[in-house]
Amino acid sequence: MQNKQFKTEVSDLLHLIIHSLYSHKEIFLRELISNASDALDKLKYKRLTSSGAPGESGNEGSSNRAANGSDELKINISYTEGSTEQGKETPYVLTISDNGIGMTESELEENLGTIAHSGTKAFLSGLTAEQKQDSNLIGQFGVGFYSVFMVSDKVEVVSRAFGSDKAYKWTSEGKDSYSIEEAAKDSTGTDIIIYLNNDNTSFASRWRIEDLVKQYSNHIAYPIYLSYDENKYDDKYNITGKEHKTEQINSAQALWTRSKSSLKEEDYNEFYKNSYGETENPLFYLHTKAEGATEYTTLFFVPAKAPFDMYHSDYKSGVKLYVKRVYITDDDKELLPVYLRFVRGVIDSEDLPLNVSREILQQNRVMSNIRNASVKKLLGEFKRISEQNPELYTKFVAEYNRPLKEGLYQDYANRDELLELVRFNSTGVEGYTSLKAYKERMKADQKYIYYITGGTLDILKNSPLLAAYKEKGIEVLLMTDDIDEFVAGSIGKYKDVELKAVNRSDAIDDLMTDDEKKQAKEESADIVKKFKDALGDKVKDVRTSGRLKDTSAVIIADANDPTMQMQQLFKAMGQTGMEVKPILEINPEDAFIKRIADSSDEVFVKDGAEVVLNSALLAQGIMPENPAEYAKKLHALLV
Ligand code: ADP
Repeated sequence: MQNKQFKTEVSDLLHLIIHSLYSHKEIFLRELISNASDALDKLKYKRLTSSGAPGESGNEGSSNRAANGSDELKINISYTEGSTEQGKETPYVLTISDNGIGMTESELEENLGTIAHSGTKAFLSGLTAEQKQDSNLIGQFGVGFYSVFMVSDKVEVVSRAFGSDKAYKWTSEGKDSYSIEEAAKDSTGTDIIIYLNNDNTSFASRWRIEDLVKQYSNHIAYPIYLSYDENKYDDKYNITGKEHKTEQINSAQALWTRSKSSLKEEDYNEFYKNSYGETENPLFYLHTKAEGATEYTTLFFVPAKAPFDMYHSDYKSGVKLYVKRVYITDDDKELLPVYLRFVRGVIDSEDLPLNVSREILQQNRVMSNIRNASVKKLLGEFKRISEQNPELYTKFVAEYNRPLKEGLYQDYANRDELLELVRFNSTGVEGYTSLKAYKERMKADQKYIYYITGGTLDILKNSPLLAAYKEKGIEVLLMTDDIDEFVAGSIGKYKDVELKAVNRSDAIDDLMTDDEKKQAKEESADIVKKFKDALGDKVKDVRTSGRLKDTSAVIIADANDPTMQMQQLFKAMGQTGMEVKPILEINPEDAFIKRIADSSDEVFVKDGAEVVLNSALLAQGIMPENPAEYAKKLHALLV
C-alpha cells in the first residue's frame, strides 16, 4: 500500500468544501452520480468506436445495452445501516457503483489526488468569505468528487479500468493524505464506498436517496437503481425477515430527446443544475429540434452568472457533443464560437459519424451547419429577449456584454446581429444604450457616432474632452472595457454612420468650421512651437483646439495609433514595440498655458510644459514616467 500526500491545493480545497459549503452537503450525491454518468458516457463511446473491445455492440448506439445484453450501463446505489451489535459498532455506509470506464492506478492518483484545472487554485485564493459560501462553485471547478467529504469520515474508491484486469482501491479520510493499493473487482467500473459520519447517517435511507435522485439526477441518461432491504411480514404484521429489492429510481431519459411540449421549466432547470453543477437556475434556455437536411437537437442554457473561468485562456467548454445520444466530447471549443463560451448545453447530431475526431469535426460540413445554425438561433433568442423582456436582458448584458463585443471582431458573418445586441454607457442616458437607440437620439446635423475609450466610467465621464460635445448637445458613448478600442475600430460603421473617437486627433476637426480651424492654427502657431521645443521627444505632436473648456490639456492619439491605454494593455500582455508617443492637445485659453506662452524663463517653460503633459496623462489614469520628478516640479510651481 502506498500512502501519499494530497497536493496542497487539494488540501486547501477540501478544507474550503468541508468548512464553507456545509449547508448544501446533499449535493455530494449529485456530484458522484454525475461522475458515474460521465464514466458511462465514456465507456459507451469507447465500445462503439474501438473494434474488438469487450462488449462492443456495433449498433447505432441509441441503446444503453451492449450486444450481449447482460452489461447494461447503469448506476447502482446501495446502503447499509449501521448498528451496535454485541458492543461492536458498524458504520453507516453508502455505495455508489457504476460499470463505466473505470480508472487505472495512475488515473486514481491524478484524478483524485490533484486538481486538474490550473486556474482553480488561483481563483480559490482570490475568493471572498461570501463567495466561499456559494456552492455553485463546487461544480464549476470540477471538484465535485471532494464534496463527498462533507458527509463522510472515510471514502474508498475501488476501480477497474476498461481493458485492464487489475483493480485498485483509493482510500482517504479527506484530511491530507490518501493511499492506493491493489484490490479485487470482478468487472470494469467504479465503486465509491462512503463511510458516513455521525451527523450524516440519514443519507443511508431509501427515501432520502430517492428524493435526492428525483430532485437532482432524474434526467441522467442511464438508469439509477437503488438496492434496499424491505421487511417481510406475516398475516399478523410481524416481521418475518427481509427481502432484497432493486428498483430504478430515475426516469433515465436524456432530457433533450423529449418533446418540448412534454417538458416544464422545472425540468429544464433541474437538468441544467444537475448537469452543470449549478445551484442557480439559468437566465434562460433554448431547446431546438432541427429536421430536414441536417437533423439534430440542441439544448442551450445561459447561466445566471458568468462562468468563473470565462476570461481564463484555459476555460472549459460548456457544450457537450453527442451523436445519436452517444456522448462524444465535452472538450471541444469549436462547437460554438469562442465569444459564446459562456453558453452551456448539448448538441446531439443524427448525421455525424460516431468515431468523429477533433480534426474531422473542424472540417465537417454537418458540424459547421449545426454550429452556424446554433449561433443564429442563440443570437436570435438574445435579440428576442432584448425586445420582449428588457429586465432579463439587462441581467444578461451585465454578465455577457463583453463576450458579445468580442464577437464583433471574431464573427464577421453575424456582425449586424451582434451590433444590435451589444450595449454601451453613454453621456446621453443612465445605464446602457444600444447603438440603435443612440442613432435615434442623434441630432439632425450630427455626422458621426462619437465615443471615448480608455479608463473607468468615472474617468471617462469626467474627461475634459467631453465638455465641447456637451455644450453642443452631442451624445458620446463611454466605452469602458479594455477591449472597446479594438471593438470600436472593428465596428467602423453602424448602419452607414461612422464611429469616431473623441480622443483621436481627427475628431477635433468636426467641431470647428474650416475658417475657425485656419484662424486657430495661425493664432496658436507660437505656443505650439514653444511646447514642442520644451517637450522634445516626449510627445509625438502638440496641437491646440477650441474644444477644451476647464482644463489645460488632454492626451489624444492619431487616427490609426493605439491610445495610451491600449499601449498599456499591450505592455501588460508582454507585447513591446507598440509604443507611440502621446499627442498633447492644449487649450490656448487656459490661464496656465497662457503663462507659459508669455514667459521667457526657459526653466519655467520646460518644467511647466512637462507638468501639463504629465497632468494630462494622470487625468486619464496613466502614471507619468517619473512620478517623483513630476511631483517635485509640480510642487515647485505651486510655491
Ligand atoms: P470533474 O468530474 O468535474 O472532472 P471530480 O473531482 O468530480 O471532477 O472528478 C475528477 C475526475 O475523476 C473526473 O474528471 C474523472 O476523470 C474521474 N472520476 C471521478 N469519478 C469517476 C467514476 N465514477 N468513474 C471514472 N472516473 C471518475
